[in-house]
Amino acid sequence: MSTDEAPLMLSVSGARGIVGRTMTPDVAAAYGGAFGSFLKATTGKARPRVVVGRDGRISGPPLAAAAIGGLTATGCDVIDIGVAMTPTVGVMIGHHRADGGLTVTASHNPIQWNGIKCLDGDGLAPPPAIAKEIVDRFKARRIDWCGPLETGRVSEDMSAARVHVDRVLANVDVAAIRACRFTVVLDSVNGSGCLGGRMLLEELGCSVQHIFGEMTGVFGHVPEPLAENLVELAGAVRGAPGAACGFAQDPDADRLAVVDERGTFIGEEFTLVLAALRMLQRTGGGTLAANLSTSRMVDDVAARFPGSHVVRTAVGEANVVAGLRPAKGVLGGEGNGGVIFPPVCWVRDSLTAMALVLELLAHEGKPLSAIVAGLPRYAMVKRKMELASVGGMAAVAPALAKVKAAFAKERISDVDGVRVDFADGWVHLRASNTEPIVRVIAEAPTAERANELCDRCREAAGV
Ligand code: MG
Repeated sequence: MSTDEAPLMLSVSGARGIVGRTMTPDVAAAYGGAFGSFLKATTGKARPRVVVGRDGRISGPPLAAAAIGGLTATGCDVIDIGVAMTPTVGVMIGHHRADGGLTVTASHNPIQWNGIKCLDGDGLAPPPAIAKEIVDRFKARRIDWCGPLETGRVSEDMSAARVHVDRVLANVDVAAIRACRFTVVLDSVNGSGCLGGRMLLEELGCSVQHIFGEMTGVFGHVPEPLAENLVELAGAVRGAPGAACGFAQDPDADRLAVVDERGTFIGEEFTLVLAALRMLQRTGGGTLAANLSTSRMVDDVAARFPGSHVVRTAVGEANVVAGLRPAKGVLGGEGNGGVIFPPVCWVRDSLTAMALVLELLAHEGKPLSAIVAGLPRYAMVKRKMELASVGGMAAVAPALAKVKAAFAKERISDVDGVRVDFADGWVHLRASNTEPIVRVIAEAPTAERANELCDRCREAAGV
């Protein structure tokens, strides 16, 4: 399916569509109206307060303006924080004691896309049942438009990046990091992380070489922070004398990928593992939360600290938080480079991830490549298939049932799609929440074995 034909994707992660086709100002206004109506109904307040931000995409301003129109026309007061990282919206909800937040972003999707994510009054991605309620309201256009005298007001707060950076600084060992005077290369993909990313690293005493650091919204490369898209970052690290590492943010700066001091992309799976290692060092042990598609490395790191364990959840930030929060976990996240650190906010946050990686480097006193060499290593294979090519959404449930039947003797989780755990590896088959694709992810000691697990799963599923 070409992106021109991609439908509006509505899921636990919000709405995503193609700009000018399925993601248009009328969609954004209706989504804002649906969210505003939902907040009025659930908070009992006539004028809920909502923080609105957007990632740096060029298509963002008209969509944000429309969403703000929908919110104020249902009676919400809006605090517009302009271009902001998604985690910054989470931070600012608490800062302004708001009842919710809305961000206009399509995260790492290419520039054709844009979307809307909502956050609740605790700065959390709403749990699936609540997310569905908002989506259902939007689909049915169940919007409680207000009368002329109840229209909400809009105010601006352009200090959001500063507030967010200060929150991170208050929760990491600033003195230890500053003492190391690290040289760091930062790739912000010309997205919303430019301002806050640079501010944080400079406050941490780093000498910063910033590439794609102009907040133009014209992405300097394919935005998903994967090895093939970070060639310039790797090269810049190799060319920067004494660089400690390179960091890559995605356009809404909730995900972070890391390049070691030799310019080697160490894999987005390592971001959470490195941050978790540092937090367990700091606390001596604790609970972590990670989704079912995240590497076993996080279990291995937890096993080094007695009393620690990993809560495994369905894919999606809200699901990870739903596992992390009641367990009073020290850190959560996803293998896509998303780290959730409760003292800062309940949203995956690239700033927190950078600070914790630098704190780990400061604490260990050795190069990043040496720290990574001390971690267990697995091969992970990630494949994706167009949903249309496997017979559409209707074909997914029967395919999952076939996989469960075929591997009935193994350890199976059906919390999200199907994950099958073997003694030496695992495979996870599920439909994406945000794109019309089916993912098959496998991890094993070798790439050959991981590929074999993917093949066996696909064969069993008949896709
Ligand atoms: Mg993102």
